[in-house]
Order: sequence, then structure tokens, then C-alpha cells
Amino acid sequence: MNTNSEISCDVVLDLVAIYKDGYASDDTRALVRSHLRTCPSCRRLYAEYRVSQDVRAAIPDLPTVQEDRFAALAKHMRSQQLFTDAAMLGVMVLSAMVGAWSLTKLLNPTEEEKP
Ligand SMILES: [Zn+2]
Repeated sequence: MNTNSEISCDVVLDLVAIYKDGYASDDTRALVRSHLRTCPSCRRLYAEYRVSQDVRAAIPDLPTVQEDRFAALAKHMRSQQLFTDAAMLGVMVLSAMVGAWSLTKLLNPTEEEKP
């Protein structure tokens, strides 16, 4: 946090979008510019913000396409996980049943199976 400038880093970060898009008033622009000159961390954040905005502007579909793909991938992974969970549960139930059956057979042998 840079307290030497006239506005705080938080205020600068709030104003960065309108500053970059050219909607800020002359006073706001001057304040943001003077803060950016004296505050390396805000300067770095502003540079990163500018690059990310430029990338978005250059490829307008990119964020939505990516979000859709991530959502689809997440959904696919969830369904796969659900399938795997169900399969595991099935195997566990089956082995438990077989185990229980073998145990009952062992403890209570039928007449023919008695030695
Ligand atoms: Zn700052």
C-alpha cells in the first residue's frame, strides 16, 4: 500500500477500468497517472490488466468459449467420477455379499457339506 500518493491503491484499482477505457475525468486520470508513477505494485497490476483486456478485445469469443469448454469438461469429469464411484460401490457391495455368504457357509455348513 502506497500512502505517499494522493489516493490509495484500492482506489486506483477501482478506477483502473475507466482510466484504461478513457471514461475517467481529467482529474481522475491525473490522480491515477501520478499514483502509477510512484507505485510499482499498481503499475504492475495495471500492466497485467491492460494485457488481459487487450487479449479479450482481440479475441472476443475466447472467454465464453473457454468457460463453456471448462464447464463441459467439469460436467464430463463429474459424470465420470459418478460412474467410477458407482462401479466402486458395486464392487464393494458384491465383495461384501460374497464375503458374508462364505462366512455363513463356513459357520453353518449344510448337512451334505459337514465332514
Ligand atoms: Zn498503488
